[in-house]
Amino acid sequence: MCEVFRAGGVNFISLYIPTAESHHGHHWGYTDQKAWASAFQHCNGKSQSPINIDTRTAVHMPRLPSIMLDGYDLTDQPTLTLKNNGHTLVLKLPGSMRIVHGFDEVFIADHLHFHWGTIEEPGSEHTIDTIHFPAEIHVVHYNSKYHNLSEAATMPDGLAVLGAFIGIGLHENDNYEKILSVLTDSNTQIPGFNVRHLLPNSLDRFYRYNGSLTTPPCFQTVNWTIFNDTIRVSRKQLASLEETLKVDKNHRLNKNFRAPQLLYGRQVQASFSSRPLVKSKYGQHRHVTNQSSSVKDSQSHNRLLVFFFFFFF
Ligand SMILES: [Zn+2]
Repeated sequence: MCEVFRAGGVNFISLYIPTAESHHGHHWGYTDQKAWASAFQHCNGKSQSPINIDTRTAVHMPRLPSIMLDGYDLTDQPTLTLKNNGHTLVLKLPGSMRIVHGFDEVFIADHLHFHWGTIEEPGSEHTIDTIHFPAEIHVVHYNSKYHNLSEAATMPDGLAVLGAFIGIGLHENDNYEKILSVLTDSNTQIPGFNVRHLLPNSLDRFYRYNGSLTTPPCFQTVNWTIFNDTIRVSRKQLASLEETLKVDKNHRLNKNFRAPQLLYGRQVQASFSSRPLVKSKYGQHRHVTNQSSSVKDSQSHNRLLVFFFFFFF
C-alpha cells in the first residue's frame, strides 16, 4: 500500500505508490503478488501486512490509549481530489486532519483509499478469524515529526493507518454516497464533508499491530489500527465500487487486495475483551482457508444461546 506518485508536479503518497513504476522501473499488480519481493525487497520482510487477526490469540490491552481525531469535520470548501491511481481509489486529505490522541506523537492525515473485490469475492485485506469482508478503507497518516508522507514512509515510527471493514447493509450509506455516487476514472473534485462518518461509529474497539504498506515497496513502517465495528453500505453502492473503475480500457479495477501475511511472532493487541461473533448476515464473507473454527465456534455459540433462552425464559 505505499508508493509516492507525482501528478501535476505534486507529490502524493498513497499507500499505493505509482512511483514504483516511475522511480524503480518495476510494474506490479495483484495477480503476481509473490513476485513483488524480487523487485521490492521489503515485501519479503517479517512484519508485513495485511494479516489475519485471530481473535483467540489477540491480547487484550485495557490501557491502549483511545483514538481521538481532530479536524475530520471538513467544510464543503476547499474541495477534495478523488483519483483512480491505477491501483485504488484515493481521496486526498488536508493536513488539518489529525490523530491527536492514541499514539506518542500527533499523526497528520494524507489520504484515504479502498481495497475491494467482486460480487463473488469479498476484497478486504485484513481478515478476522480468516474471514474476508467485502471491502476495507484505509486512512493513511504520517508522524508529524516528519515533513511529509514520503519521508515518514521509510521511518520505523513513520505511519499510522486506520483501517475499517466495509460490509453490506440494508440501507444506502449517505456518507459513502459522497464518494461512490461520483466515481469516474478521471480526477474529480468533491465538496469536503465529515470524513469521520466514513469510519465506524465506535472507535473504541480496535486491534493494533506493527506492519507494513500492503503494496510495494512494502515498507515496514505502519502502526496499524483495525476497528472491530463494520461500516455498512448498500449492495448497490458496493457494486459501484466493484464495477465502475478501470485499470485500462479492457480491465476493471477490482480485487486490489493483498493476501494475508505471516505474523512471524508479532503480537496483535485488542483494546477490548469480548470476542466478536461473525455476523455473516451483514455481508458476504469468505474463508481464507477452509471452514474456520471461529465460524463453527460462533454457530455452536448461537445454539448455546438458543438453549439458554429456552431454558431460562
Ligand atoms: Zn491500503
